[in-house]
Amino acid sequence: RAFRIHIAALGGGPRYATLLTFQDLSEQRVIERMRVDFVANASHELRTPLASLLGFVETLQGPARNDERARERFLAIMREQGLRMARLVDDLLSLSRIEQRAHVAPDTPVDLAGIAREIVDSLTLLARERQVTLTLVTPREPLQIPGDRDELLRLMENLVENAIKYGKQGGEVAITVAAGEGEASVHVRDDGPGIAPEHLPRLTERFYRIDTAASREAGGTGLGLAIVKHIVLRHRGRLTIESKPGEGATFKAILPRFESRP
Ligand code: ADP
Repeated sequence: RAFRIHIAALGGGPRYATLLTFQDLSEQRVIERMRVDFVANASHELRTPLASLLGFVETLQGPARNDERARERFLAIMREQGLRMARLVDDLLSLSRIEQRAHVAPDTPVDLAGIAREIVDSLTLLARERQVTLTLVTPREPLQIPGDRDELLRLMENLVENAIKYGKQGGEVAITVAAGEGEASVHVRDDGPGIAPEHLPRLTERFYRIDTAASREAGGTGLGLAIVKHIVLRHRGRLTIESKPGEGATFKAILPRFESRP
């Protein structure tokens, strides 16, 4: 429960009193506040590329009407802005779908090792662009957990993609999938600049970024880790982030196996 405390001094001289009042910011109000902030952030994120898109349309209809070279250049920028908006809307929809299903734990058997291999294959090109070496260690046998295949692909993709994007150019990203007592773990480690301790607790908040320009440059929406967190929660697991600035970051998702799920 959150309270706001108001302190007021009453009177003066030898007789005075202090009035303390407690205002109950009930859970409901905190949730409402978060919802309002979220809508404001999402609108702002959509508005920026939209304004740029409209600006270029007007330029193309007006001053640059007959400028062949400008047209090509502007159309390329407009496409980029359109794609950015599409990514944002897709991520917002994913997040809301995962949240809607939060109370139903997924229970289809999914092979976590297979998921990791698929993601490593699909991100090979991106890794090559940044000269990043991807290494994958998985158990030899399939590692089945009760899950939602699409969500687990998404979880793995977001973590590995972040490690490639924010890790060191020419560095290494190590992905480990392992079976533990009643649980399975996914570790994604990079050797990039790491994350300062003050950012760690807020990293999975929607639209929280350490460097907004770098995130946008890399095509990020600021929702990747919020999606990861909700997927882990829906799978009744936990997520930890460890980092020492200058020594990279490790993201760990621990997910229950069939026999131990509550
Ligand atoms: P984005 O779309 O910006 O990538 P995310 O929610 O996936 O959004 O990540 C939030 C922020 O966390 C990123 O903008 C980046 O600043 C930081 N971050 C994520 N992964 C890493 C990492 N492996 N190393 C350093 N910083 C990271």
